[in-house]
Amino acid sequence: MSGARAEIIAVGSELLTPFRVDTNSLHITERLNAIGIAVSAKTIVGDDRARIASAVRDALARADFVIVTGGLGPTDDDLTRDAAADVLGLPQEEDAAIVEVIRQRFEARGLTMPEINRRQAMLPRGAEVLPNPQGTAPGLWIVDGVRRLLLLPGPPAEMQPMLELWCELHGASLGGGTRLLRRVLKVAGMSESHVEELAQPAYARWRSAGLPVTPTILAAPGQIELHLTAVSRDAEEARRALETASHDLLAALGDRVFTTEGESLEEVTGRLLRAHAKTIAVAESCTGGLLMSRLTDVPGSSDYVLGGVVAYSNASKVDLLGVPPELLEAHGAVSEPVGVAMADGIRARHHADIGVGITGIAGPGGGTPAKPAGTVVVASSAEEGARVRTYHFRGGRQAVKFWATQTAMDLVRRRLIGGRT
Ligand code: AMP
Ligand code: MG
Repeated sequence: MSGARAEIIAVGSELLTPFRVDTNSLHITERLNAIGIAVSAKTIVGDDRARIASAVRDALARADFVIVTGGLGPTDDDLTRDAAADVLGLPQEEDAAIVEVIRQRFEARGLTMPEINRRQAMLPRGAEVLPNPQGTAPGLWIVDGVRRLLLLPGPPAEMQPMLELWCELHGASLGGGTRLLRRVLKVAGMSESHVEELAQPAYARWRSAGLPVTPTILAAPGQIELHLTAVSRDAEEARRALETASHDLLAALGDRVFTTEGESLEEVTGRLLRAHAKTIAVAESCTGGLLMSRLTDVPGSSDYVLGGVVAYSNASKVDLLGVPPELLEAHGAVSEPVGVAMADGIRARHHADIGVGITGIAGPGGGTPAKPAGTVVVASSAEEGARVRTYHFRGGRQAVKFWATQTAMDLVRRRLIGGRT
């Protein structure tokens, strides 16, 4: 990236505890990268005026500009603006127009503005105000010679639209006109090395053709992600390069790629169920409802999710799903015949187009030599017949549960697109 270099400072004592994570800097980095600005360092600092000032001073000395989030509220522990004024040696004055905006914000809700909110109308001399449509703290863009400082409030819902506005007004020109575009392909049911092996020839072609695309491979639980980044002064060229690259990878990896747009597997599965006008019901044992939870994370999932049960004990598999006791007796709860019976049972009880059954041993205990911890049976049932497979997942209990739901959704997805298993 040829544009400016930025540093980010997250202010808030809560961000130095184990209970709160600084997510603002991730969002800011993504938005800055998109306009050709690289982030060279990040700092987290508590609500202490001298420490904030020292962090701001150091960052300004290194970077072309600095973005600070947090500490712009009305209370005594909100010290960012004072610290910034200390560093730049700027006097602060109350701005009548900002007081008025804050007062009206309270009045619109039938409230009187508390006097402490006046603090939020103090302006370091020369600062440009960025309005905050979601809250009371205005953002401030301060340019003092070569020192440039952007102050934004901490709550992400307030910070994000203000950052967008700043990107339009000032950020784009600091980026020197470079554009960075990203595209994320996700692959289910393949190992990282297998994906890498199939993708390598495409990478080599891009290199020799000078395609401005950089690939990164990331292994996430139950899926491999290919992040494609294109950098160009011409947004249209970057878009075309990503299109070519993602087309090449689709040709190499086939329908194991479940999205080229960064969607989650539950979103893709849901989209396909809706497109094919199919409904689904799920019977879960070792995943304890995680599959249902993930399917219903998608807005509008009530269009295709009919229901499900968590049948943890043998008795509940018999009572709630109609699994024949003889089957449990003969093959054990973690077996392909029981998985199929669960999928058939839930499909019949809900009159669904597709039924899913998951039964397994999440671990770490409970395994046997024949069925070690991590053994999971995933079955799907539909009018044209049942499909079932036994998997051996690795990792702890959470990982096994997640893998099982990932595999079940991919099974449904592949059924819907006409793949074999
Ligand atoms: P403040 O502007 O310091 O009053 O921040 C108010 C609230 O915004 C905090 O209690 C956090 O919940 C949230 N917040 C502040 N900084 C961050 C950050 N860097 N990342 C995510 N949330 C934040
Ligand atoms: Mg704070």
